[in-house]
Amino acid sequence: MNTPSERGSGRRAGGRRARAPRRSVEVTSVREVTPHLVRVVASGELEGWNGGGPGAHFKVFIPVAGDEVVMRTYTVRDFDREAGLLTIDFGLHADGPVTAWARTAAVGDRFAVAGEARPGYVPDAVARWCLFFADHCALPAVASVLEALPADMRAIVFVEVTDPADETEFSSAAEVRTTWLAESGPPCAALLAAARSVVLPEGPGEVWIGCEAGAMRGIRRHVLGELGVPREALHSRAYWKESVPNHSDHDTGSDDG
Ligand SMILES: Cc1cc2nc3c(=O)[nH]c(=O)nc-3n(C[C@H](O)[C@H](O)[C@H](O)COP(=O)(O)OP(=O)(O)OC[C@H]3O[C@@H](n4cnc5c(N)ncnc54)[C@H](O)[C@@H]3O)c2cc1C
Repeated sequence: MNTPSERGSGRRAGGRRARAPRRSVEVTSVREVTPHLVRVVASGELEGWNGGGPGAHFKVFIPVAGDEVVMRTYTVRDFDREAGLLTIDFGLHADGPVTAWARTAAVGDRFAVAGEARPGYVPDAVARWCLFFADHCALPAVASVLEALPADMRAIVFVEVTDPADETEFSSAAEVRTTWLAESGPPCAALLAAARSVVLPEGPGEVWIGCEAGAMRGIRRHVLGELGVPREALHSRAYWKESVPNHSDHDTGSDDG
């Protein structure tokens, strides 16, 4: 039987760039950060692994039943190169196989990760402020990005959670103002409402959006159309899509304008 690691090797169809082979890892610790956020630390074939920048994402390959492996997108919450330890925060809101795995993850469980992570997000050097709109599953990305911001940056953060017990402290050198929004109505509707009432700070800045696909488009439209944020200062990505398993991690909403 192939291991998840062996199945990841190979070359893309059409002779394009070979994907870096998957790395096999094993859970070394599991802890509940908040009631709906489980922190898994893994080690294994991580020597030389490219963990990307702040908020970078990558694929996990989780064995679910028998020989079946499912692939989903997660954030590098932390990668300690020296110690070879990769930290992933699994939110427990999705109704899918990887969330089910995370609920019962235990030390010694094996899975695989993609050969490398996608770059991550660092605001442009001229930006004086950064506005974040995130839901619970984008929280690991926001937390990682905030940790890397410089002291002369202002971060205005809106996060929607279904349970107030999932609100966490952020750590950052930047000046961070966080507004926690309670989910009410459709997912991320509160985020969209917050975007519609926000007033942008003075000077150059950027907007980061990570949430449900439909809401992400609504916020994007408002930010571009009504707030007049230049396209190059907007970084948006769907973190999931209602009723769609394994929604594409390439969905930035740019098809919508
Ligand atoms: C760039 C990127 C980074 C991400 N990083 C993280 C991360 O660090 N931590 C994390 O927890 N998630 C993260 N996600 C989201 C995660 O990939 C999805 O939630 C994933 O679909 C969960 O897989 P699953 O097998 O549990 O559910 P799936 O089989 O994919 O979906 C099953 C059902 O659950 C619904 N669903 C999926 N996600 C959610 C959700 N978040 N809330 C409510 N319903 C949902 C789907 O619409 C579907 O109906 C990230 C996504 C992207 C694109």
